[in-house]
Amino acid sequence: MKVLGAIEAGGTKFVCGIGNEQGEVLERVSFPTTTPEETMKLVVDYFTGKQVEAIGVGSFGPIDPIVGSHTYGYITTTPKPHWGNYNLIGKLKEHFDVPMNFDTDVNGAALGELTWGAAKGTDNCIYITVGTGIGVGAVVGGKILHGLSHPEMGHIVVRRHPDDSYEGTCPYHKDCLEGLAAGPSLGRRWNVQGAELSADHPAWEMEAYYLAQALMNYVLILSPQKIIMGGGVMKQEQLFPLIRTKLQELLNGYVQHAALTTDIDQYIVPPGLGDNAGLAGALALANLAR
Ligand code: ADP
Ligand code: ZN
Repeated sequence: MKVLGAIEAGGTKFVCGIGNEQGEVLERVSFPTTTPEETMKLVVDYFTGKQVEAIGVGSFGPIDPIVGSHTYGYITTTPKPHWGNYNLIGKLKEHFDVPMNFDTDVNGAALGELTWGAAKGTDNCIYITVGTGIGVGAVVGGKILHGLSHPEMGHIVVRRHPDDSYEGTCPYHKDCLEGLAAGPSLGRRWNVQGAELSADHPAWEMEAYYLAQALMNYVLILSPQKIIMGGGVMKQEQLFPLIRTKLQELLNGYVQHAALTTDIDQYIVPPGLGDNAGLAGALALANLAR
């Protein structure tokens, strides 16, 4: 059994762990995300002496995951203080001479779910996190979807809900999907934290209205075989049936597949790897590191 190192690099905390190619996480620790100097020292200290054979990193972004690019391995244009233009893989390479695999947290999570979780047995899935931001990762034909860089499917344009006059929180686009539907927009629109809103509050119908539009676009563009939705906001379980029904209404029978009709409850699902989805995603990246 291989000894694989996994790093879930988040904007609030870094979770590091050791696991194997069966997706088992054998140990884990977590460090607050402060400055790269402080946080990466803790990360390096953690892995020192652990004899890992490969390291996978699923990171907040935007990042450069394109091997051969001159900024490969960097966290690039993040607005997060201290972390913009930071060479994370370069730092790890100074200390560990093993294969590494660097991708977005959500691309890692999609790969992890496809390898060991809710999308096992498929070749195509998407993983959406609805949390502080909205991020989407995709595996297409068994491979993580890259192009110029990684897709940014949280920032797509959606049609506004007729009852919504909230301007939106995205610093780049204001009322893109993330601007209208990530956790912070819920808090600002309703003046109550998302977690405090009751299950029958109209906020959830509006939230589902936006997320279902996003899913419609993803279904039409990528035709995923499984849609996995995680993140803090998706802890509101009543969102799942609302989103499924709205997606069916929006598609209006255009895409004919049982996954979108009789089997939709098994099509749009929470992470099979539960709260381990992020770290398991990094482990799945490590498993494919070459
Ligand atoms: P992050 O995106 O930073 O990794 P989370 O996925 O936990 O972290 O998302 C945090 C966001 O989700 C916050 O905006 C928070 O208000 C919101 N959130 C967390 N728990 C819930 C909940 N139970 N219901 C609704 N919103 C929640
Ligand atoms: Zn945006």
